[in-house]
Amino acid sequence: MADDAIRLSVVIPLYNEEENVPELLRRLDETLATIQGPVELVLVDDGSRDRTVEQVRAFEPRSMSIVLVELARNAGQHNAILAGFSQCRGQYVVTLDADLQNPPEEIPRVLEQLEAGYAVVGTVRRDRNDPLPRRLASRVVNKLVSRATGHDLHDYGCMLRGYSRETVQAMLACPERHTFIPALAMAVAGSSTEIEVSHAPRAAGQSKYDLGRLLRLNFDLMMGFTSIPLELVSCVGLVTALLGLVFSVFLIVRRIVHGPEVEGVFTLFAILFFFIGVQILALGLVGEYIARMYDEIRGRPRYLVRRVYRNGGRRPPPGVPAEGED
Ligand code: UDP
Ligand code: MG
Repeated sequence: MADDAIRLSVVIPLYNEEENVPELLRRLDETLATIQGPVELVLVDDGSRDRTVEQVRAFEPRSMSIVLVELARNAGQHNAILAGFSQCRGQYVVTLDADLQNPPEEIPRVLEQLEAGYAVVGTVRRDRNDPLPRRLASRVVNKLVSRATGHDLHDYGCMLRGYSRETVQAMLACPERHTFIPALAMAVAGSSTEIEVSHAPRAAGQSKYDLGRLLRLNFDLMMGFTSIPLELVSCVGLVTALLGLVFSVFLIVRRIVHGPEVEGVFTLFAILFFFIGVQILALGLVGEYIARMYDEIRGRPRYLVRRVYRNGGRRPPPGVPAEGED
């Protein structure tokens, strides 16, 4: 689907971002005007219930063409990006968030690295403007995913990233439903580099990730790309079994020397409750893997396209079907 005429596609997922769209498009239009060659902006509306789509359609760009992909329902940030990938035609592709946390002004620097021949350009957020618990959790996840993908990147969570056409095609060929684009890219990419980019607080509106969605996303990342959670549980099991063995030997020796012990029943209960907890946790974790496998096996489409508008959606071009698509 690469169209040599289009040099750069910028892909952005939008979910209830009406407050950010006008400013986002204005800044993009200004920045992309400085880039040589035709540029296309691919905006994916991920089932927004506010005026996001109307805001996009009202915008008159100067320097870029706009493709608006409307999804029939909310498919999640990463699936929305994949929907955008399947519609974009640029030789190079850059993704970013719509809330202006990733400044659009950084796009030319990412493009520069893609032109230097890297298959993936990762980014590290300088002075990341997110709450401390999220930053700490990200640090652990980054370490684990780096180990799993074999690419030592420092910030898998930053969505301002660049991909070569080949990398985008390789990602589109992966059928998984639960995915995490930056990690998926590293799983298929040959070469990569990393640059520092600035990071702002969300311009308007609220994060689309409450604690539940954030946990699910990080589970997707950990379970989709590593088996570390299972290995950890196995290690806990092994250590527990060894401790249990040592404790049994101690009790046998104690019984021989001092006779049977009758006290300490409640301590035993406490210990038992702890291990029952660990067992249920392990069972839940295995269940999470199984649920994801079941979801993948069912093979339902990861997103449903309601409509694709080229030229910013002001004029639906003839012959563009409103088809559902995998
Ligand atoms: N987003 C999306 N679908 C979703 C959730 C988020 O398309 O189900 C988009 C959202 O509009 C934004 C980007 O993904 O452009 C990142 O979302 P957000 O800023 O809420 O995430 P955070 O910065 O809190 O990680
Ligand atoms: Mg954000």
